[in-house]
Amino acid sequence: MPFDAAPPPKYTLYRQQHTLGGEVRLSGIGVHSAAAVEIVIAPAAIDHGIVFVRSDLNKKIPADFRAVSATQFCTVLKSDGAEISTVEHVMAALRGLGIDNALISVNGPEVPILDGSAEPFITAIDAVGVVEQKAQRKVLRVLREVKAQNGNAWASIAPAPASEFEFQIDYPGTAIGTQRFEVRLINGNFRHDIAAARTFGLRSDVDKLRAAGLARGGSLDNAIVVDGDEILNDGGLRFDDEFVRHKVLDAIGDLYLAGAPILGRYQGHRAGHTLNNQLLHALFADERNYAVETMANIAA
Ligand SMILES: [Zn+2]
Repeated sequence: MPFDAAPPPKYTLYRQQHTLGGEVRLSGIGVHSAAAVEIVIAPAAIDHGIVFVRSDLNKKIPADFRAVSATQFCTVLKSDGAEISTVEHVMAALRGLGIDNALISVNGPEVPILDGSAEPFITAIDAVGVVEQKAQRKVLRVLREVKAQNGNAWASIAPAPASEFEFQIDYPGTAIGTQRFEVRLINGNFRHDIAAARTFGLRSDVDKLRAAGLARGGSLDNAIVVDGDEILNDGGLRFDDEFVRHKVLDAIGDLYLAGAPILGRYQGHRAGHTLNNQLLHALFADERNYAVETMANIAA
């Protein structure tokens, strides 16, 4: 269910750094590995950033786009020989709640998929709250437009006064169809408008993924499955345009691997994790494309 009871609005783009008010713990399975895993999201100090820990291997993996090792079915990070998969939804939740500093421990190869959205992370973090830290937040301001393209799929980011996301998907002949969604992250609207949107797949793709040994933990409990013009989940959709909202959720999570919130307008057309990662590489390839600023310099 999407959020009905609206908590008091907060500005997503805080001027100060923020972390969690306490540790949160969630258990579930990996959507690809089907491994039973526990994730613990803990507060972290000023300027720590977001860091994953494979607690079973005692290895740290930074939440950094340069550490992305695979993007075909989800975003995978790798460092010092250790990998962590499907990081995008928890990254989106942290970005959506304005959390700059956190240590995310997972005792297996993949972040649990939970219900396929970012909502369970939001609910868990809400229980401990988010606290302000005594340091100014850093943001990345986009100064020049950059684009990543593959055939008729592309992602771009251009200068804008806030974090804006616009996405269009096109699945002709299915219940998904053509959908477009646009949002400016402000006043905590991530939690109401995006967090609950679940991942999705076409039934034909699910069969192929399974044959390839992937999506082994995938089910109607953690994904919307579409078969032609039919949605196979009993409860139907959480939003009429839940599919494209989830693509925005993924983009928010993938772009947070930049290491700071981005002030810019993201556009994705039939894009996915691969183009999102290529876009960050393109952005950082030239220092004239961006500036690192503190929130004090920005009229948000
Ligand atoms: Zn996703």
